[in-house]
Amino acid sequence: MKRIVVLGGGESGVGSAILAKVKGFDVFLSDKGTISEKYVKMLEDNGIPFEQGQHTESLILNADEVIKSPGIPSAAPMVEKVAAAGINIISEIEFAGRYDKAKKICITGSNGKTTTTSLIYYLLQNAGLNVGLGGNIGKSYALQVATENYDIYVLELSSFQLDNMYDFKADIAIITNITPDHLDRYDHKLENYVRAKFRITRNMSSDDCFIFCSDDEITINHLNKIIVKAKQLPFSQKKEVAEGAFLKDDRMIVRYNDSECDMFIRDLALGGRHNVYNSMAAAIAGKVMNIDNEVIRESLASFRAVEHRLEKVLSVGDVLYINDSKATNVDAAWYALECQTRPVVWIVGGTDKGNDYSPLVPLAKEKVKAIVCLGVDNRKIHAAFEGVVPEMHDVTSAEDAVKTAAGIAVAGDVVLLSPCCASFDLFKNYEDRGRQFKEAVRNL
Ligand code: ADP
Repeated sequence: MKRIVVLGGGESGVGSAILAKVKGFDVFLSDKGTISEKYVKMLEDNGIPFEQGQHTESLILNADEVIKSPGIPSAAPMVEKVAAAGINIISEIEFAGRYDKAKKICITGSNGKTTTTSLIYYLLQNAGLNVGLGGNIGKSYALQVATENYDIYVLELSSFQLDNMYDFKADIAIITNITPDHLDRYDHKLENYVRAKFRITRNMSSDDCFIFCSDDEITINHLNKIIVKAKQLPFSQKKEVAEGAFLKDDRMIVRYNDSECDMFIRDLALGGRHNVYNSMAAAIAGKVMNIDNEVIRESLASFRAVEHRLEKVLSVGDVLYINDSKATNVDAAWYALECQTRPVVWIVGGTDKGNDYSPLVPLAKEKVKAIVCLGVDNRKIHAAFEGVVPEMHDVTSAEDAVKTAAGIAVAGDVVLLSPCCASFDLFKNYEDRGRQFKEAVRNL
């Protein structure tokens, strides 16, 4: 019996192990850290042998194939040993793709993945299709392939999930945009990160579609260097495209196969220029899937923001509180500031990932009346914005951040949590940061 060893006992690894078990393999899962209770129970319920707190080489190096969870870097010692032993290392997506006949719409990019994925899922559901949602969101793709039966999947894929993907093929691939992020996992080479993102187009044929932002220089530069067989459907806010999506006056126009769908920008449910991009990408996918224009329009007009992404929390005394905790890099915060039309009290800070804040300075000068730094070490933020923004404060809890911001804001202002940084200095993760922020707002 073929032996599959899964490295990593989180959502992705446990889903892969269950699928491997369902497909009749001899399965073993190993996690060097602790496996959370939920996943221990899932493994036990499915009779899957596992270990935690260690990697026992004798139980791993006898594998025929290893499925590596996306959170484990290729440079991890155990992974290097597996590779040196000549064992095939694949990703969950590669593995699950082998057993899935459904049509696959796959989304990657530096920012906007979750929003675009959720938009497309919503749109296809509204069209009455039997569609599943997975990848980086919710239940793992592998678990769903093991236990569900969908005709279509909408999959959010991070670059880590695209690594170790070889024969997997998307029917529709989307790259929302590419800005430098996570370079630590790619030898600090942008080129490697870009190549990882472009793996989403592997194995595609001329029957498939590739949707991308033609305003994005990094994407276009790479696309000019490689051959993508899929039909190319760009979206742009700068110029008209023959097929894909573009802006004309106050409307967004989507063209595919001699058919057109148009919609007023003001009718889009999600505000901000970045969400016009995301809506364009989703609308093109909708057209390719042959969804009625009316369903596309209604869906893009009625979608509700995903939690922690420019999520409007509450208005208190005509001060609007917005939770954009997921903005963990400069580009995301740029779009958050860019779309604000009212004076902003900006809550920013956290674990700096080597940020260059300079692209934010003009927006801060124009729109931000005060900064509340929510982080352990705020020196870089002070250095970047001192003298640009009239007022700066330092806090170390979401509650104090909200109280301080509330003390500064007056009717007509916005308090925007768009931290530009990771959350691990003060919070468990960005969700925890966002929830604590919302809780503090509700307690005002
Ligand atoms: P991802 O899943 O790629 O992290 P999300 O949809 O969760 O993307 O959004 C992450 C952050 O990026 C949010 O702050 C959001 O407002 C911002 N954002 C969303 N779409 C875009 C885009 N197309 N370009 C730049 N920033 C974006």
